Amino acid sequence: MLAASLIPTEVAGVGVLNSAFEAVVGGLRASVLGFAEPEDVRAFHVPPVISRALLERLGYVDAFPNLLGTLHTFVGDNRRWRAIQAARLADGADWHSEQTISDVVALPATCYHLYPLVAGRTLAGPMTMTAEASCYRHEGSSELGRLRSFRMREVVRIGSPDDVPRWRDEWLARTRTWFEGLGLKVSVEAATDPFFGDAARMMAPPQRQEELKWELRADLGTGQAQAIASANYHKDHFGGLFGILIDGDVAHTACAAYGLERIVLALIAVHGDSPARWPAFVRGALGLGGTTR
Ligand code: ATP
Ligand code: ZN
Repeated sequence: MLAASLIPTEVAGVGVLNSAFEAVVGGLRASVLGFAEPEDVRAFHVPPVISRALLERLGYVDAFPNLLGTLHTFVGDNRRWRAIQAARLADGADWHSEQTISDVVALPATCYHLYPLVAGRTLAGPMTMTAEASCYRHEGSSELGRLRSFRMREVVRIGSPDDVPRWRDEWLARTRTWFEGLGLKVSVEAATDPFFGDAARMMAPPQRQEELKWELRADLGTGQAQAIASANYHKDHFGGLFGILIDGDVAHTACAAYGLERIVLALIAVHGDSPARWPAFVRGALGLGGTTR
């Protein structure tokens, strides 16, 4: 089933959402902010682009060169551009080759904007931050739910080696209960990131063995379950890269992500394409009117 509320455009994996879809996204956002992190959370608004140099330093380019979307722009004066236009008229010259890569790239995951906020700091206790962003990934396929442009709400935890895995486990349990309360059937699976090149050989096996990544998967109506939320435990990787300390030691970090469009698609797969006709307990839980169960 194709969700009528996710309107395709002329490029694969880029959709326009109607207001019914967006109202559900609003309900999900409010729920996540309310239930998922009842304690002190610092909330931020982050842009959909990020420093290219930062992603290079973090190893994103090495691990996912195929997913990264780079931006290019014309750098030059008016005269130069007029010359290019003339060449295009004369012999169909290609304007792309005149573009220069920008110092920003399309943001591939929300949390990359959050760790730098505490770089070089010594924390007095564990810290939780949240943000939502439009993310871009140059996905190779375009089945339902595998978008190139999608929104990711993330919650980041920075704390001690004891605190962070405990937080991750609690987050998994809380989020699973929340999804089940919305009528979704979810499975919790240990997973690996879709590393590319040498990173696939180097990074995936330890990630799997140490169960560093967990996904909450649901059927989007395609018969194949997809991750609607996931949690990554980075141990001291980002704490080391950004010089974040806690209790005199390098801080550990974890991030938990909600794929907002995918969650709506999972709800549509179970309850139908019209949120107005969803069961009252689902509408109530999402603040769309109706009663809670
Ligand atoms: P997948 O295994 O489906 O490729 P991933 O492991 O790359 O996903 P993460 O990097 O953990 O996913 O991304 C966090 C969350 O963002 C996922 O749990 C999912 O809900 C959502 N997400 C990831 N990629 C996409 C996409 N292409 N379209 C829509 N949502 C996505
Ligand atoms: Zn993250």
